Amino acid sequence: MQISPYQQEQLEAISMTATHMDTLSPDQIEALKTASHEYLMFRYDVDAFLNTHFASTCTQRCFQSSLSACCSREGIITFFADIVINALFSASDEQKHLLTVLQKPNAGPKCVYLGPQGCLWRIKPIVCLMFLCDSAKVRVFSDNSSAESAWHVLKNREKQFTWPDKKVLFDDLEAFFLNAGYASSLMYLHNSPGLLLVKKRARL
Ligand code: SF4
Repeated sequence: MQISPYQQEQLEAISMTATHMDTLSPDQIEALKTASHEYLMFRYDVDAFLNTHFASTCTQRCFQSSLSACCSREGIITFFADIVINALFSASDEQKHLLTVLQKPNAGPKCVYLGPQGCLWRIKPIVCLMFLCDSAKVRVFSDNSSAESAWHVLKNREKQFTWPDKKVLFDDLEAFFLNAGYASSLMYLHNSPGLLLVKKRARL
C-alpha cells in the first residue's frame, strides 16, 4: 500500500519548508515569528471563543460518541502558510512526527494527522480551526445570538490574514519562500485562479 497523492503533496511541502528554514538565520526566523504575531493573537481569540461556546457540546456529541466529523476527511485543505507557521512554532520532534506519519499509508478514513491524543499539528490548519459543523452551530447559536455575532466577527478577522484583496500574511509567507526559489502546489494565494482573480481585482 502506497501513500496517497495528498500525503505526497503534504510531505513535499513540509520537507521543503524545513529545508529552507534550516538555512535561515535566527534573526530571519524571529522576523517570521514577529510577522505571525497578530495572527497568533487572532487564533488565541478563536480558541477562547470555541472553549467558551463549543467545547461542551462538541465533546459530548462528537468525541464521546465517536461521531466526530471534524477530522474524518483524508484530505483537509492546508495552506502553505499553515505549514510555515506550524513549523515556526513547533519543536523539531513534532515536525519529524508529521513527516513520519505522512510516509506511512493511512489505513483509516480519518485525517492522516489525527493521532491518539488529537491533532498532531501544534498550530492546526486554519480551515480546521474555523470549522464548525452545521448541527453544532444550530445547537449553540439558536438561543445565543450574541455568540453567533461574535463568530461572524471572527470569520471576518480570519480574512485579514488569508483573503488577498489586500496585503495578507498568508500571501507574504508564500512570497518569502517563492523569492528564495521554493514553490509548492499548496501556495494557493499564488496559484489558485480564484484567489489570483481576487488579487487582480484589488490590483495587488
Ligand atoms: S489537520 Fe488536525 S485538526 Fe485538521 S482535520 Fe487533520 S487531525 Fe483534524
